[in-house]
Amino acid sequence: MCIAVAIDGPAGAGKSSVAKAVGKQLGLLYVDTGALYRTVGLAALRKGVDPSSKAEVEALLKEISVEMDFSETSGQVVLLNGEDVTGLIRTPEVSMTASDISALPIVREYLLGLQRNIAKTKNVIMDGRDIGTVVLPDAQVKIFLTASPESRAERRYKELVEKGEKTTVKDVLRDVIKRDYNDTNRKAAPLRPAEDSVLVDTTNLDFDGSVEAVAKIIRERIS
Ligand code: C5P
Repeated sequence: MCIAVAIDGPAGAGKSSVAKAVGKQLGLLYVDTGALYRTVGLAALRKGVDPSSKAEVEALLKEISVEMDFSETSGQVVLLNGEDVTGLIRTPEVSMTASDISALPIVREYLLGLQRNIAKTKNVIMDGRDIGTVVLPDAQVKIFLTASPESRAERRYKELVEKGEKTTVKDVLRDVIKRDYNDTNRKAAPLRPAEDSVLVDTTNLDFDGSVEAVAKIIRERIS
């Protein structure tokens, strides 16, 4: 049986960077499921589809193909209708559209099989919002990674500025709070810790400390 580690938590808690580093350390394939929702969000933006309209999004899903691939050199890539859109899905606009569109059950169902199939054949550390609760309820290790909204906004701000985006901490904090609200209050697969998850709060941990805390929990459970 394959090993599955589920990492869930709110936006900006450091899930992706921490899970990527831990995956490398422990030989687990890192899977960022947010990239799939972002790809659907990008498709909606390109076609002018209202991300809250079930009918419009349903029609969109019939027209598009979303795939995830992994390579030694580029790591995880996402494809929209065969086009590599990995570098186009990290803008604040795509973040917000992904958050809105992910509230629709049809979108979640559309992406569910894809996520489960990856975990069927590979040892994974998969990050998202509902991995421990819905996607991989039998994962051997479930971690809920969180931090205060202010420290998450600060980290996201630095990431965005490094990528050349023009924004302010205030704007990023507003987006973080809005996405937290959307993700926690939606009816379909809301963000919440799985009952059997371990909570890791990274507010007062630096990157190395967060990686060590998560790796330790995994090592203790998979031996
Ligand atoms: O993790 P990331 O911030 O890239 O995710 C973008 C958006 O996709 C989130 O705000 C969330 O609404 C949605 N998402 C989700 N379920 C997942 C992963 C992401 O609903 N498993």
